[in-house]
Amino acid sequence: MENILEINNLQVSFRTFFGEVEAVRDISLKVGKKETVAIVGESGCGKSVTASSIMQLLPMPPAFFKGGEIIFEGENLLGKTEKEMQDIRGNKISMIFQDPMTSLNPTMKIGKQIVESLMKHEKMTGKEAKEKAIEMLNLVSVPQPKKRIEQYPFEFSGGMRQRVMIALAMICNPKLLIADEPTTALDVTVQAQILELMKRIQDSLGMSIILITHDLGVVADMSDRVVVMYAGQIAEQGTTNDIFKTPNHPYTIKLLSSVPRLDMNREELLHAIHGTPPDLYIPPKGCSFYDRCSEAMVVCKEHLPEFAKINDGHLSRCWLNHPMAVSKRSTEGGKKE
Ligand code: SF4
Repeated sequence: MENILEINNLQVSFRTFFGEVEAVRDISLKVGKKETVAIVGESGCGKSVTASSIMQLLPMPPAFFKGGEIIFEGENLLGKTEKEMQDIRGNKISMIFQDPMTSLNPTMKIGKQIVESLMKHEKMTGKEAKEKAIEMLNLVSVPQPKKRIEQYPFEFSGGMRQRVMIALAMICNPKLLIADEPTTALDVTVQAQILELMKRIQDSLGMSIILITHDLGVVADMSDRVVVMYAGQIAEQGTTNDIFKTPNHPYTIKLLSSVPRLDMNREELLHAIHGTPPDLYIPPKGCSFYDRCSEAMVVCKEHLPEFAKINDGHLSRCWLNHPMAVSKRSTEGGKKE
């Protein structure tokens, strides 16, 4: 599959009063054309920093790129000027945020916000842009779009605002949509409608999606591939089928077993992942999951494992995959003290 986006060895840090926080530590991933790639992991694992790095929306300083590249349609976005990025944002790459109120202008009517984007990126006249805005609100199932276009964001419910946000993100037919927790703030029925809507629009426009979420139900429903992040690094990545059916990394396994399933019996307990992720002011030298891993070996503490190829496209960063690992999936020999 042809890739629309390639992130290679990206490192992003923040300079703070207390020192450097290494938020994203050498990650590489690809997004194919028309593909949906989900990035999952606990809060603070680097998902949103990765997304904001693609859009170059991080405040610099304190953020800075330590290394790597973000190749979109063959060009490195990290070499672009702010002016060049303004042409890419909202036009070729769009983003939907968890809270639409932070990205919609509360002082401007919905219609004007959509029309301005069309006039800027698509060079439409005001009349053409207004017609297109009404058509787009109709597409995202906002009732009475001709009337709603004259209203302000506060006159919309949470679900309706998210629909407007999707309309705004899709209006210039982006090639890549980054959806950062797009349904977290919504109730379950509205969430299902919004996800269905995103799928429908993806099919009709043929775009790629990066879906950032901690909701594994949404991931299973929406994505083709999954990237599991932990403490600023990628722990595992593979097809959605591989990750859900044959997870390899102990963190992925624990993450999946912490989610309730419909086929669970009453006696079965949910498994919490005890402990907390490491402090990224002083990132661990070895495996980041060492302190919380029940299968950790001595080697894990000091040495970061390489990615092991589980099958085509399924990679896992765990010492247990090394052919010389003393015990596989057991608590014997070599186990940490
Ligand atoms: Fe656990 Fe070691 Fe694998 Fe890390 S490398 S997940 S500590 S077994």
